[in-house]
Order: sequence, then structure tokens, then C-alpha cells
Amino acid sequence: MFQISLDGLIVLYLVGILIVVFLSMAYAEWRRRRRERRIRRNYVICVICDHVFEDDSGEELVECPRCGALNERTKILEI
Ligand SMILES: [Zn+2]
Repeated sequence: MFQISLDGLIVLYLVGILIVVFLSMAYAEWRRRRRERRIRRNYVICVICDHVFEDDSGEELVECPRCGALNERTKILEI
């Protein structure tokens, strides 16, 4: 077996905790971005009446439920 000093053990412990915290934060950020991307993909803003509605059909032209205008699906930067 190899021997390790108490200082080395404490440093190893702290580095391990930092790695776990960093990986947890990176995973949470990845999930948050994925969820936002999915939400933005399904939301459409009507160009005629500015009505925001959800459409998960995946079609490129989407009919507005309020005014009936056809809207192109574009990326929404902010909701
Ligand atoms: Zn509309």
C-alpha cells in the first residue's frame, strides 16, 4: 500500500468535493439549457397579433389560434 499524509488526504478530499460540485453545476446548467431550447422550439409568436402560443406539431407553417394567420416557425430569443 502507499502511504499518504494527513495533509495530502485533506487536499485529496477537498479536490474530490470540488470536482463533484463542478460536475453537479455543469449537469444542472446542461439540463436548464436543454429545457429552454425545447420550450423555445415549441413556442410561436404571431406576426399579426403578437399572440404567443405553443405548437408541438413540428410543421414549418403554423396557424395562429387567435387570428388564423399563418406564421413561419422562427427561433424565439426571449419569451
Ligand atoms: Zn395571430
